Amino acid sequence: MYVTVHRGTQQIGGNLVEIGTAHTRLLFDAGANLPPLDGPKTEDPFALEGLTFGEPAFDWVFLSHHHNDHCGLLGKLLPGIPVFAGEETMRILNVIADFTNQPRPEIHFGFRDGQPVQLDDVRGTPIGVEHSARDAYMFLVQAEGQNVLYTGDFRTSEKALAAVRERLGEGEQLDLLITEGTNIRPGKQEMTGKFQGEAWIEHRLTGRLRVHQGQGTVFVLCSSANEDRI
Ligand SMILES: [Zn+2]
Repeated sequence: MYVTVHRGTQQIGGNLVEIGTAHTRLLFDAGANLPPLDGPKTEDPFALEGLTFGEPAFDWVFLSHHHNDHCGLLGKLLPGIPVFAGEETMRILNVIADFTNQPRPEIHFGFRDGQPVQLDDVRGTPIGVEHSARDAYMFLVQAEGQNVLYTGDFRTSEKALAAVRERLGEGEQLDLLITEGTNIRPGKQEMTGKFQGEAWIEHRLTGRLRVHQGQGTVFVLCSSANEDRI
């Protein structure tokens, strides 16, 4: 199995990660560059033979979630390369296209959390993660006795990690981890004590809600990444 990161190691988003074997060529995410914080938005210059021009040379494209920096190049992909995404992601992208007067993207297959997809000699398993986009996934890619995990965007939670361990099985390990590093801060928890485990957060949240139990409706304002937690 080989891995080629076409883009994404020197920036946030704009991910294009190729994973394949001698028989199978997969792309994980077709992300557009994030627009500049200031200055005009420009056309994304990314081009790759077999993906955006020439004869189609990729077998399948997987999308981790519906954020533009992970799927914004969908419209540039050569026709004939099938695209897989989560079922909700398909619906969300269709709605976005309808509201922005764009053609609906061609997504060929809606996968589900934890259900492996066997593609010739490669097995890809989407594993649901918590992120500020609904229906977000990491992918465990297995072929030729090797295990690669491509995480996409995610908030670390025990749930996703446990699902990866379960899928790997007894005695198996990851051979390679490809992950977003936007907010990795080793040692910060020890320094500030501010980051606590999921059980601690749930315990605190439940306590707060109980205080107002029976007094009427309780409203919670938080990031959509925390949907599972609530
Ligand atoms: Zn995202």
